[in-house]
Amino acid sequence: MKILVYASAFILVGSCATLSNKEKIQAIADNIEISQPDLIKKYSETITSNELKANLYSFSSDEFRGRKTGSPGQKKGVNFLRDYYMSKNIPSPYPDSSYFQTIPKAYLGNDYGDSENVLAFIKGKEKPNEVIVVSAHHDHEGVDKDGNIYNGADDDGSGTVALMEMADAFKKAKEDGYGPKRSILFLHLTAEEAGLQGSRYYTENPVFPLENTVANLNIDMIGRVDKYHTETPNYVYLIGSNRLSTELHYISETVNNTFSNLDLNYKYNAEDERNRYYYRSDHYNFAKHNIPVIFYFNGEHEDYHQTSDTADKIDYNVLEKRTKLIFATAWQLANQENRIIVDK
Ligand SMILES: [Zn+2]
Repeated sequence: MKILVYASAFILVGSCATLSNKEKIQAIADNIEISQPDLIKKYSETITSNELKANLYSFSSDEFRGRKTGSPGQKKGVNFLRDYYMSKNIPSPYPDSSYFQTIPKAYLGNDYGDSENVLAFIKGKEKPNEVIVVSAHHDHEGVDKDGNIYNGADDDGSGTVALMEMADAFKKAKEDGYGPKRSILFLHLTAEEAGLQGSRYYTENPVFPLENTVANLNIDMIGRVDKYHTETPNYVYLIGSNRLSTELHYISETVNNTFSNLDLNYKYNAEDERNRYYYRSDHYNFAKHNIPVIFYFNGEHEDYHQTSDTADKIDYNVLEKRTKLIFATAWQLANQENRIIVDK
């Protein structure tokens, strides 16, 4: 019944010139229905601050030498991710189970060696060709000339471990018979710090056709609290959610109101915002191909792009809450009846 109402609301939106823009938006907002709320709740509980913390302490340790694109430390980083997915029995989308999309040095420029995006995949059971991409970059700034390491715990170790936990949660659900309707690609991107090159390469050489890519949820720094929120840490900045799909924005809002109750802050989404974050992380390479995106971000802080961005400074409680919100949003996008509509 809900599906019919939903469909007719869109016909109305599309055909009735007398509806105001406000009414059209209201019709979209009113017709969001959360799929499988009990399952979302159950499997989001498998995402824990302890596991996020253990993985982040490993991934941002000195052993990885700041994970500069193409460096030996970055190779350790991608091997760490591959080994994790293998140990969890979460497959790669490649037939040879390699997990790596290799980007040649010639593409990346003189400062870098060959590098890798890392791909893990949960195949959808009803619409496997429609893919939700959840992404975070694994590279960072390496080591400075005095030998100090840019550990990049928040940037973007936080997004990296969020992807690992989400993939594990979707895998557990699938093992219990609740695999997603659509497919979900967990895309660990390289060379973000080298000018968003890993995501540019992926979108120029997509493993799944871009026209079948439903949305990109991109995470870049979600483990810290900025100076505006020291008293109110349960927030996250969202950028881009309404720019290509009104429906995506209201799904995100409804999911948050149902499960997370974080303060979703849109100040950096303003078109004339001087930091231009919409253009500054990997989601932009999806958005420019007309794929709806949400960029999740905690804002800048005193350790941003400093050697002091370390794992002991992360707020693991808020990292867990933000990860659960993104997990629930991905679940909804993967399982709702109709693929989200691009309307801008
Ligand atoms: Zn970053």
